[in-house]
Amino acid sequence: MKAKYSIIIPVYNEQEAIPLFYEAVLPVMDKLNEPYELIFVNDGSRDNTLNVLRELANKDDRVKVLSFSRNFGQQAAIFCGFEHSVGDAVIPIDVDLQDPVEVIPKMIEKWKEGYDIVHGKRTKRKGESFFKKATSAMYLKFIKNISGLDIPKNVGEFKLFDRKVVDVMVNMDEHDRYLRGLSSWVGFKQTEVEFVRNERSAGETKYSVKKLFKLAGRSVISLSTWPLSLSMKAGIVGGVLSVVAFITFIVLACCKIVLPLAAWLFPTITLLFSILFVFNGFTNIYLRRTYEEVQNRPRYIVAESLNFDKE
Ligand code: UDP
Ligand code: MG
Repeated sequence: MKAKYSIIIPVYNEQEAIPLFYEAVLPVMDKLNEPYELIFVNDGSRDNTLNVLRELANKDDRVKVLSFSRNFGQQAAIFCGFEHSVGDAVIPIDVDLQDPVEVIPKMIEKWKEGYDIVHGKRTKRKGESFFKKATSAMYLKFIKNISGLDIPKNVGEFKLFDRKVVDVMVNMDEHDRYLRGLSSWVGFKQTEVEFVRNERSAGETKYSVKKLFKLAGRSVISLSTWPLSLSMKAGIVGGVLSVVAFITFIVLACCKIVLPLAAWLFPTITLLFSILFVFNGFTNIYLRRTYEEVQNRPRYIVAESLNFDKE
């Protein structure tokens, strides 16, 4: 029977957490009395994760496993799961039970009410440092500003997506897809379900500070072309300031206040650099257009159409 729900679980070195997750999610999903699949995506684990998954898959047909040749990252793993899922509703979730499995039926309820995307919203985050919470809040604000996207606060990858949204997202040609941004970008009918984020069930976080920064950087580039416009802005500001300086110097000279020659060097240098920045800015504008073309995102998405099939 075709699965109605697909749960996507990216896993990286999670040999202890997988059995705990499996035991927790099974009763919750069974209670729904509808067919489902558990798609584990092994993101190049170096521990015993793959064997643990093989064993599970052996005894339970609903467990499906996709295994990467190396660590490609959580985002890539989730999208791979999307591409291989068949459910009418698809739910990516962390394996460490920080996202409580009990929230899944609540998300499904919202989906049945007609929502296409249901964000899991953390009201509290247990076992996470002040540093992590503060930096992620700052980062979200920054991303929202530069991308112009209305990304909801305190949401992660734990969400429910209707099949039509999944189809739209997997059909995007770009390589670097960032779920938190894209799920706001696609639009559709969205809502939230609140939950308290637990502490990890087992093991350590798989995100080092370095990995977090890398993800942050890549998502900035993926969601916005703002950095490319900086050069032009810097050039214009620098140019205006140096022209103001020149005018001031000339006025001073007219008033017989003679400045040392070295003083004239500053606006001269900034003016030259500004010209350079402005031209670099032009290059970036074209680069930006090219980049956007290469990304090849659809320019619009038709969520529903009426009467077209009637002739
Ligand atoms: N994960 C992954 N690939 C990675 C890093 C993490 O598939 O390179 C998975 C990990 O196994 C977990 C989820 O992504 O299921 C979230 O990771 P983690 O709990 O370490 O992140 P945190 O909750 O600390 O932000
Ligand atoms: Mg976690």
